[in-house]
Amino acid sequence: MVTDQSAPQAGPIDPEPREECGVFGVWAPGEEVAKLTYYGLYALQHRGQEAAGISVSDGKQVVVFKDLGLVSQVFDEQVLLSLRGHVAVGHCRYSTTGSGTWENAQPTFRTTAAGSGLALGHNGNLVNTAELLERSREAGITIKNGATTDSDLICGLLASAAADKGFEQAAMELLPTLSGAFCLVFADETTLYAARDPHGVHPLVLGRLERGWVVASETAALDIVGASFVREVEPGELLAIDEGGLRSSRFAVPEPKGCIFEYVYLARPDTTISGRSVHATRVEIGRRLASEHPAEADLVIPVPESGTPAAIGYAQASGIPYGQGLVKNAYVGRTFIQPSQTIRQLGIRLKLNPLRDVIRGKRLVVVDDSIVRGNTQRALVRMLREAGALEVHVRIASPPVRWPCFYGIDFASRAELIANGLDFDGIRRSIGADSLGYVSTETLVAASEQPRSRLCMACFDGRYPIPLPGDAMIGKHLLEGLEKGVAGSATPVMVNGYGAEDALQRP
Ligand code: SF4
Repeated sequence: MVTDQSAPQAGPIDPEPREECGVFGVWAPGEEVAKLTYYGLYALQHRGQEAAGISVSDGKQVVVFKDLGLVSQVFDEQVLLSLRGHVAVGHCRYSTTGSGTWENAQPTFRTTAAGSGLALGHNGNLVNTAELLERSREAGITIKNGATTDSDLICGLLASAAADKGFEQAAMELLPTLSGAFCLVFADETTLYAARDPHGVHPLVLGRLERGWVVASETAALDIVGASFVREVEPGELLAIDEGGLRSSRFAVPEPKGCIFEYVYLARPDTTISGRSVHATRVEIGRRLASEHPAEADLVIPVPESGTPAAIGYAQASGIPYGQGLVKNAYVGRTFIQPSQTIRQLGIRLKLNPLRDVIRGKRLVVVDDSIVRGNTQRALVRMLREAGALEVHVRIASPPVRWPCFYGIDFASRAELIANGLDFDGIRRSIGADSLGYVSTETLVAASEQPRSRLCMACFDGRYPIPLPGDAMIGKHLLEGLEKGVAGSATPVMVNGYGAEDALQRP
């Protein structure tokens, strides 16, 4: 057993890397589109757990209902029955630009000078937000009460331009000027639109219902609403769907740079991205991890759930038996009840509990998806030793995370990333493992079956495919800083999730 008295003390447990949002849209006359969207968002809940919202359009009016909380906390039967129409946009949010406030929940809503409504959901993060704010100010677009997101700027610019030329033309002119990662789903009274950035950083897919169309962040959401997969929304493509059918327009030349972290952790295992199953990728990473970093051990256990497929692959390739050594409390991830100090001290036990009978007396290989700050793994190793493990060999299904993400994933600042300050042995000693092995970059690419040239791997190699502005012009709370003193406003009113400032209709 290796211990290191000089290792840093256990700190607070790391939040897992957070997704930036899930988006869903449906155009389907005769269907209960709000309920379809609800189930679509349910399937995408892992992509954002801070807030959820659904807009519906009935040909005459756009109505938005949104609130803080999980999809199941925000919506009930009564609310869904009140949201009637044939076009819907859904969104579940984790805040990567702007605070996690009600005002920043989506779909965000604007009206045009001609009185048309626009509801918009955004997955991703722009990197030219400061420039868009400047453009909004020059165009005289009022900053919406309390909203501090790049998504609201997009919505405002679109609504402003659409008064003269309509949303489709306005989008074709605006989208090429956005820089960064964006999967957008938006709707006016009659038409559903979907657009994906020219790099296709995050996934967005098109599906077919018997009586309509669906767009969603992941193929798993299509499965859950009974839609068949048609194809991915292409990088640089705008789709418009209305009673005239489906129209596709190209607003930029595609330069694919898909996020490799979707395969590692972010996407559901039952999702397919660029033709490759996420589950199969994770199993293959585990298999290759076993040959890159073998271990003398009695049992392979995953850190559930995202480490499970790679642990299965590791066990298959190594011949070491696979077992369930940790039980995850699946419902503790998001609660509005602040834990008491006593509960907080339980740290990792809130999320994971060891199966002592399985672990006791064993040399373990523990497979996790990634290491961010290292606090989780440090607490985990300690917990497994306390549960009776003889040795703990940590294997990681991704390379070391050394760089922050500016395209929509919230890891930590660069200074907080453990791999930014320590070499491999330093990390191993810091987390208290007997051995540590990360999968190589080459292996990760091979397992994804995507050409390296079509992937973003910036959090591993620091090569950002979309140019970044200077430090002062980027960051989660950028707009809160830039807007200080600009967006003076009355306190927005919220009644059961409906925003009075949006002049929305209550059921
Ligand atoms: S930096 Fe990492 S997490 Fe962010 S888009 Fe690129 S691969 Fe994905």
